[in-house]
Amino acid sequence: MRFRSKLALQFLALLFSGVLFIAGILVYSFTESFDHLLIRLEGDRISRIVSDISYMARQTGFSFREEGWQTQLQAYARYSNINIVVLDQDSRIQARYEGLTKHSDQKLEVNSYLLVDAKQKELGSLLVTHDLNNPEYRQLRENFQKGALGSLALVASLFVIASFLLARSVSRRVTEPIEELSAQTARLARNDYRITPVPSKVREIQTLSANLAYLAHSLEVQDQLRLDYAQDISHELRTPLTNLSLELEALRDGLLTFDDEVAEHLEANIHQLTTIVEGLKESFDDAAQVNHFHIQPVNLTQLSEEIAASFEGAVAQKKGQLLRTLEPALNLETDPKLYRQILTNLLSNAVKAIEPGGTIRLNLSQGKKGIIVTVSDNGVGISKKALPHIFDRFYRVDSSRNRKLGGSGLGLSISKNLVHQLGGEIYVSSREGLGTSFQLTFPQDNH
Ligand code: ADP
Repeated sequence: MRFRSKLALQFLALLFSGVLFIAGILVYSFTESFDHLLIRLEGDRISRIVSDISYMARQTGFSFREEGWQTQLQAYARYSNINIVVLDQDSRIQARYEGLTKHSDQKLEVNSYLLVDAKQKELGSLLVTHDLNNPEYRQLRENFQKGALGSLALVASLFVIASFLLARSVSRRVTEPIEELSAQTARLARNDYRITPVPSKVREIQTLSANLAYLAHSLEVQDQLRLDYAQDISHELRTPLTNLSLELEALRDGLLTFDDEVAEHLEANIHQLTTIVEGLKESFDDAAQVNHFHIQPVNLTQLSEEIAASFEGAVAQKKGQLLRTLEPALNLETDPKLYRQILTNLLSNAVKAIEPGGTIRLNLSQGKKGIIVTVSDNGVGISKKALPHIFDRFYRVDSSRNRKLGGSGLGLSISKNLVHQLGGEIYVSSREGLGTSFQLTFPQDNH
């Protein structure tokens, strides 16, 4: 059953049972009050008859045997639908007049009334029996119940029709956005990311809709990244593979003879493939890698100096200098192997970037929240256009120098990933032709 129908039905059922309940209570209490009214009216009627008889007894005196009285009392009994028993002063029955109609549901009530003469002398008494459930009243009550039920039924049906219309509009208002949201999720499942916010005044639905739009956007970005990534990988793998197959073909066709140089070429291509595959593995945000961490207290000053020293040869080849400003004995809980990998990558990029005679600076200092490592150079710098992309996988600044040096474009993306895994951040600033500066921050309370 559709959510909308279910909601409307439940709403209706609730209203309907409420209306039924209230109608029941109303009919019951109306009938009760009407019964009380009838009983009071019946009492009044009997009192009036008795007071007529008493009045006559006072005025004319009372004689049981007098024919006039007998006719009179017989007439009262018959026309008033009552039984009258006349008793003398000694409570002996003197006469009986029966006018009560008999039926199965009789509810008889007997009352006794004293008869006195003008001097207040007791003449005898009357026992009057009347039926509280007499057919006339029963008819009246039934008519009343019918009338009350009829009008209540009319009001209730009007109410139910109104509630039906209300239930429909309320359930539509609640379910329409939900149906729209569910249609959107179905579209999302088919990779259709065109999600527009669903208008609704219900806050939860607004939040759900906003979250769905956000999810769609992230999925779209992820999808695009996946696509780009797949294209990048196949593109990167293609070059060494093509080289290998061309070289092997030439060997097989006898166009090339296998010598040291050919072996070197083959090895170089295989090496490039291995580097790409290894790099790819590392550049993924693989949770399993966390298990390979060896977080330990590290004297970062000492380790940074060691790494810097290993670059002396490469810097010297470029006739440059690597200046260090390292705050002494800075300690950090980190993985020294990963830290070495990050700093090595930044320093080797800097060495590649500087012109002969250029300068590289390595700074290590204690910041407010943690340790700050800066690697800067006065090398070629990075253009504004390229700067936002240098942490992307396989991104290489397209320059003739880079083409000559032939990096994989994975170094910085791996570094960024490793820095994040160590709980730190990496920032870059650069100006083309002036130099580049990478800054790493490692919070000290992170581990
Ligand atoms: P690669 O392994 O090809 O060096 P990276 O991810 O390490 O790849 O670097 C990405 C791009 O950023 C490269 O094209 C490189 O030229 C450029 N780059 C990195 N560091 C510097 C730097 N210090 N100065 C100028 N360009 C740099």
